[in-house]
This record gives sequence, C-alpha cells and structure tokens, in this order.
Amino acid sequence: MKYNKTKEFALEQDEKDPLKGYREQFHIPLQDNGEECLYFCGNSLGLQPKKTGEYVNQELEDWAKLGVEGHFHAQNPWMPYHEFLTDSFSRIAGAKKEEVVAMNTLTANLHLMMVSFYRPNKSRYKIVIEADAFPSDIYAVSSQIQFHGFDIASSLIKLKPRAGEVAVRTEDIETLMEQEGDAIALIMLGGVNYYTGQVFDMAAITDMAHKKDIVVGFDLAHAAGNILLNLHEWGVDFAVWCTYKYLNSGPGSVAGCFVHEKHHKSNLPRFAGWWGHNKENRFKMPTDYEPIHTAEGWQLSNPPILSLAAIRASLSIFDEVGMEQLTAKSKQLSAYFSYLLGTIETDRIEIITPDQRGCQLSIRVKDSNKELYDFITKRGVVADWREPDVIRIAPVPLYNSFIDLHQFYKILEEAVSSV
Ligand SMILES: *Cc1c(COP(=O)(O)O)cnc(C)c1O
Repeated sequence: MKYNKTKEFALEQDEKDPLKGYREQFHIPLQDNGEECLYFCGNSLGLQPKKTGEYVNQELEDWAKLGVEGHFHAQNPWMPYHEFLTDSFSRIAGAKKEEVVAMNTLTANLHLMMVSFYRPNKSRYKIVIEADAFPSDIYAVSSQIQFHGFDIASSLIKLKPRAGEVAVRTEDIETLMEQEGDAIALIMLGGVNYYTGQVFDMAAITDMAHKKDIVVGFDLAHAAGNILLNLHEWGVDFAVWCTYKYLNSGPGSVAGCFVHEKHHKSNLPRFAGWWGHNKENRFKMPTDYEPIHTAEGWQLSNPPILSLAAIRASLSIFDEVGMEQLTAKSKQLSAYFSYLLGTIETDRIEIITPDQRGCQLSIRVKDSNKELYDFITKRGVVADWREPDVIRIAPVPLYNSFIDLHQFYKILEEAVSSV
C-alpha cells in the first residue's frame, strides 16, 4: 500500500473501511469542549458498546420480576448463563468449546491454573516469564514459587531481549530451553507483551517447550480480541485473559480461561468449588467432589451475571465481525500509523514495537520527558504513559479510524517541536 500523509488519504481509507459503521455502536468519551476524545486506550479499558445497557438491564429486570426463580426462568436463565459465552470465547481463543470458560478474574485464574499446572519438584522447579511482564503476573508466579518452598532468585527466569534490542527472539527462548530446559517446570508468557506490544510465537514456543516436557501457559490479556489465536492447535496447556481490554466488557469484568482438552480427565490437583462439580447432581449437594470433565471443572463459584451480561453484549459484536476481519483492519491501522510516525522529523520518539504485533504501538520518548505525554493529553488524546518512558497507543479496529490516527499524528508532530 502506498501511503501519504494528507488528511484526504485518511478520510479515503475510512470511506473504504468495511468496519466503519461499528464506531457508531460505541460510546466515545468526550473532552471538556464537547468534542470526542481520540481514544487509544482500548488496551487498558475498552469502550462501552451502546447495547451493553440493554443486556445488563434485562438481567436487572428479570431479577426484580422473578427473584430467585430467575436462575431457571429468566429470559436468559442464570444457572447456565456462563455457557452463553462459550461459543464466542472458543472462536476468540481458537479453542474447542469444552476448552474455554468465563470465570473469576485474570490473576485469580492464573493462580488456579498454576495450582494445577505448576508442580515443581527438586530437579524441575523454574518458571520462565518476560522480564518486563505485567507486575501482577510477576507477583503471581513469584508467590507460587515461594508457596512451594522455592527461592525466587534461583527459580524465576526473566526473559530479556538482547542488548540494544526490544523484542525477545524466539531463538533465544529455544537456546534457554536447550540449556536449562530440564530444570524448567513452566513457561508463562504474555501472548502479547503489555509493554512493548510484541506478539510471541506461541505455536513455536509451545512446541519447543513440550519437547522438553515443560508446561506452557499464556496470559492473553493483550491478545484476546486483538490477534488471531489458535490455542487448541498450538497445544497450549492453559491460558487466561481478562475481558475489559480489547473485549470491551467494562471495568473489572469476569475473565476467561482455557484448559487444553488433553488435561480434562487428568488427575491434576486443583482448588475446587461447587461450580466445577458435575452439573447433573450439583444441587443434590453431594459431599464428594466430582469435577466436570471440561474447562468448566476449574470453576469455583456461581458467576456474577451482570458482568457476564456485559461481556455477552460485546461478544455479540465480535461474533458479527469475526477476528479475521478485525485483524485485517488492525494491521492496516497499525501499518498506516507506523508510516505516519516515521514521517515526523525528530529523534525524540521511537517505535519499540516489533512487526510481530497486534494493534498496539509503543512509542519510546527518548528523554523520558513526560511533558510530551501531558501535551497530547491536553489536546484530547487518551493514551497511557508507562514508566519510565513509553506512551502506548492502541488503535482498536472496532472503533478507531484512520482519521483518528491522522489527528493524533498532527498533535504529536506539534508536541515534539514545542515541549
Ligand atoms: C491487564 C493485565 C492484568 C490485570 O489482571 P487482573 O487480574 O485483571 O486485575 C494482568 N496481567 C496482564 C498481562 C495484563 O495486561
């Protein structure tokens, strides 16, 4: 594609965009002056679909009308409500229906997964994670290491890019496994690193890890609803994701979890709760626990229906559009954006996101000068600043446009020469 930096070019691209109508389906936050913000924070909190209110209100009304009977007689009965998300989740994760479940929150699911899948012994006890992983993930894996009586310093391997590089190379992960594989119990990476936006080669990593009998899990917080996933085919052991980022389900909403079918009938240890018990006789209140032989067997509690309703509202849009169309537009947006940034004549900013990416581009500000970020914020840009020196921008294909990027580029161009 031949780009140019005129406003007309951006408008033309928007005109041609098959997904252009979807922006209308979202509430776009407004600036103080009443104009729409340039919202690029869908990687942190996705925008609210306009239909979310309807979905949530349906459950509030049924609760008001039916009380406890809503478990069976609500328009969308609450007892099996989480199952209404299964089809959509399986498409987003590239998984079988039996392999996905909506439950808890991301970090809670990560712990539950490690209860089953991090089983260290004297010779094999290490966990591999990205050096710049999301702090919650580092806390979670570190606390699991300690919980099992191991020492963090000698048990946690933090993957770093080579000096002068920003992305971790797959071949370096392979070398690590060749050198230390026998001592590694679990590799747990962000499928898309939250900071750099790097997409890991999950298929290759899973493959090489399994050759060394290493369990593989991915945190897909920045991947679900952003890139094409094929967890079943790749043979990933487990994965977890939240739904309030690219999946637009609202703050703190219920998370997703994937457990590969090869583990469904295993006798892996797990922390159990009644919602993971065989549905046939759950309400006979038996004292002996009998797990469901699907990912649902890892559930603990009956889930928050209002949150699931919000997720359903958003997933109905994903079902309509499909991840192929979505990622096709995402690639166009990020390529165009990368082109625009490249035309700004300055050495103060640099894109650190490699070509293996989803929609997010991370821009390093060379002098760590946060005034640049403050400047764009004052001009109506909603992005985020990550210490020490990165502005993350996520042009989301469902509601961001080419003209959004063009406007942002104009503001940034002004910013680098004025602050
Ligand atoms: C957003 C995010 C989280 C957040 O965890 P919660 O349990 O949902 O609060 C964790 N890990 C990663 C990689 C994230 O991007």
